[in-house]
Amino acid sequence: MGTEKQSILIIYTGGTIGMREDPMTRTLSPMNFEMLQVEIPELYKLGFNIESVTFNPPIDSANMTPAIWIELASTIKSNYSKYDGFVILHGTDTMAYTASALSYMLENLDKPVIMTGSQLPIGILRTDGKENIITAIQIAAAQKNGKAIVPEVCIYFSSHLFRGNRTTKEDSQQFAAFMSHHYPKLAVAGVDIKYNYEKINYTGSKGILSINTSIDDNVIVLKIFPGINRRYFEAILSLPGLKGIILESYGSGNMPTFPWIFEAIREATLSGVVFMNVSQCPGGRVKMGYYETSRELQEAGVVSGKDITVEAAVTKMMFLLGQQLSVSEVKAYLSQNLSGEIEN
Ligand code: ASP
Repeated sequence: MGTEKQSILIIYTGGTIGMREDPMTRTLSPMNFEMLQVEIPELYKLGFNIESVTFNPPIDSANMTPAIWIELASTIKSNYSKYDGFVILHGTDTMAYTASALSYMLENLDKPVIMTGSQLPIGILRTDGKENIITAIQIAAAQKNGKAIVPEVCIYFSSHLFRGNRTTKEDSQQFAAFMSHHYPKLAVAGVDIKYNYEKINYTGSKGILSINTSIDDNVIVLKIFPGINRRYFEAILSLPGLKGIILESYGSGNMPTFPWIFEAIREATLSGVVFMNVSQCPGGRVKMGYYETSRELQEAGVVSGKDITVEAAVTKMMFLLGQQLSVSEVKAYLSQNLSGEIEN
């Protein structure tokens, strides 16, 4: 840690961490940041300059949209020089999508952007929110030789720090809600916070932070399952305006070899639709051509998602389609590592 007092900006978007129960309906809905702060007086004992902005209105992250990702990126950009790190309070349901989107949108990031939330609201005695927010702030403020220890978009949850675009929500009941199947944890918080320095990306910054907020939402995720109906499959692939399809395939990237499936994919490809093959398996990776059941996909020009998560895949597709690139450029970038989301 440096000797100066670090400055941290908390960006509160909503989520369970800041929710309270309506005594009449017994449903949870977000409260404002002032009320949330009252529940965590510990924030002021940390010894950092902590300021906050609240998104209006705070939302359940089930209502997250690309417009809010853009608002988040813009908020970070306009406050970038004033703070050493950023903590985003966010619902767990779509946290991995927002983390992935931000990892592409924030270019030349050299400060921590740590997302966190909780499974139990902050006002509840057994809340996991206090530890999550306090440690997230400590990680956002952590420096070595005057430089941020974790200059990445991350998710901190239940003692573990993950690269955001490698993370998936896995559990809606346990405090350990998130998992990263393909990439090691960037830190583990026990008595001390132990950083996994070798796995943290220090190559992200090549200049001044810039934000790239062009997103194209003409994208769909299509999960393959036994019995998938030909009419629906063909109808989806020929939807007007659709530009990108994430095919959630089996195992190492396999699909049924029914001729009508490949016909529909070939036709959509010819009309400029981009396909990325992502596995339904949380572990392992897509290996196109390994089985006969994926070889034809490869021949039809479907891009291998390798070890990407669905969250990182759909946001990567939206991001690249937003960049005024040719179809072949979009495909080329889809198969490249942009910000640590895949192993090449
Ligand atoms: N539905 C909530 C949300 O994503 C769940 C949570 O925060 O844990 O906003």
